[in-house]
Amino acid sequence: MTEGSGAEATRRWRDKYLDLLDRHEKLKRNQEHQHEQMRRGLVMVSLLAQGQAGTIDSSLHDLRNALKNGSTLHRILDDLERAVHQYEDLNLAQAEVLLGQISDAAEKLGQCPLPRELQKRIKDVQKNAGSELKHWSGYIRQLQNWIQIVGEIATLEGHEDARQSKWWQRWFKPAEQPAEEVIAKEADASEPGFSHIAQDVSDTLLNLLAQLVVPERLNYQSQSLQQRLQQGLNWFELVPLLEDTTEFLLQCLGNSQAELENFLHSLDQRLQAIRILVSEASAGQADRKQAREALDNMVREQIADIRSVVTGSGDLGELGVSVRDHLMLIVEAMDKYQREEDEREQRLAEKLELLQKRLNEMEQEVSDSRIAIEEQRRRASHDTLTGLPNRDAYQKKLEEELARRHRYGSPLSLVVCDVDHFKSINDTYGHLAGDKVLQLIARSLRKNLRDVDFIARYGGEEFVILMPETNAEGALLAAEKLRQTVENSPFNFRKERVPITLSFGISEFHSLESPDTVFERADKALYKAKHEGRNRSCMA
Ligand code: GH3
Ligand code: MG
Ligand code: MG
Repeated sequence: MTEGSGAEATRRWRDKYLDLLDRHEKLKRNQEHQHEQMRRGLVMVSLLAQGQAGTIDSSLHDLRNALKNGSTLHRILDDLERAVHQYEDLNLAQAEVLLGQISDAAEKLGQCPLPRELQKRIKDVQKNAGSELKHWSGYIRQLQNWIQIVGEIATLEGHEDARQSKWWQRWFKPAEQPAEEVIAKEADASEPGFSHIAQDVSDTLLNLLAQLVVPERLNYQSQSLQQRLQQGLNWFELVPLLEDTTEFLLQCLGNSQAELENFLHSLDQRLQAIRILVSEASAGQADRKQAREALDNMVREQIADIRSVVTGSGDLGELGVSVRDHLMLIVEAMDKYQREEDEREQRLAEKLELLQKRLNEMEQEVSDSRIAIEEQRRRASHDTLTGLPNRDAYQKKLEEELARRHRYGSPLSLVVCDVDHFKSINDTYGHLAGDKVLQLIARSLRKNLRDVDFIARYGGEEFVILMPETNAEGALLAAEKLRQTVENSPFNFRKERVPITLSFGISEFHSLESPDTVFERADKALYKAKHEGRNRSCMA
């Protein structure tokens, strides 16, 4: 790998990094946008829950403000939770009061001379009151039962004797008579009287109406009903008034009041779950996807709940329409978010795959360049013609061997070797033949040396050999072996035998001697071998 392509790779990686950084920024912005959508969704849901109780409304108001301003929800959600619980407790308490009133009324009716069958009905209806008053639908059933009972008592009047028919007059006031006088004259049985039951019935109904969540469009009806009840009950008005009240209740609550109740009840649990989820999601981005999916599911579930309420009760009117619109917005936003998120994931996965591929390529490049560097290093220390270590490598090896000899005091010998009359080989057979001869000699020398011996091409047709653990005599023997091998090797050129011989000079390293001195002595010995006729080994 060249330096240029290294810089190119670095630039590519830097660009990739900046690109990823950029994408990360975009992802972050999108996430913030979606967070905003969630907030809007929560605002809409809180609007839905509006109108149950003053404390809940004020908490919901605070919640919406906090969502708009982006302030923290912790305290507000705690308040909301508390208000919802209080609201439930209050409902229970009111139901308790109503239950007491129904019991009283039933007991008073029980004292009246009524047919046994009717007495039993009254007892049964009273018995069911406890469980029925737990739900709005139960309220209506109770009311219907009581209307029926009262209606039947009314029809008794025509068929019974005068004594029996009179009792009604003791219970109900004539419309024009004020209530105070009625109480004063209550003891007087002959006075066409008021019944305390009338007060009980009107109290019960007023109480029931007070507990109702009345849609705005029914406000007028509610007020006129309450006025009629507060004015006091006239016997002839009683049944129509009760029927009107029932009709009004049905209008108020619609058919899906039970679902609405359940929904409102679970709303605070949902809000709490959302709160935990949001705090978890913001605490760490690690499980971002999971948290987001959970949030998504949560909102969807809630939407499904709201939808079931809305579709189940067409008579919720404007609220239904507005909720449907809001729902569509939320669902669209959620779908869009999911789609975009999937695409982002997909793009990111592709990028990562690409990066992985680039990384693999880089690793391959690094591995290639390592091999190239090693090859370069080898070339720098080796002779290209013969493949033997070169003169630089010899100098390095010499230092190592001298250090070792210095440490352990083991013997070390130097052998220099020169091809005899090599110039005439070149002259006779050509330079290429000379090269070939040098390669053959190098291979033969290397092959016939011990592994621990070190041979290098010193230059031209000269070689040097370092023989560790070897004194001069031993080196002489080794050199002789090499000399004889080469002399006896068949070097043929164009089917003509070419005699090749070598001359050797040997010297041993002695302590305190410089390498140059040792080399000079070996060189002198070589000169001596040449002088004495070549193809021989001399020691000095
Ligand atoms: P002597 O026996 O005295 O050593 O005689 P010589 O001819 O070997 O000695 P001389 O120094 O006169 O000649 C050496 C020749 O080796 C000269 C040079 O052209 C040749 N030579 C050196 N390196 C190479 C090489 O790499 N390839 C070839 N073909 N010839 C080389
Ligand atoms: Mg020479
Ligand atoms: Mg020579």
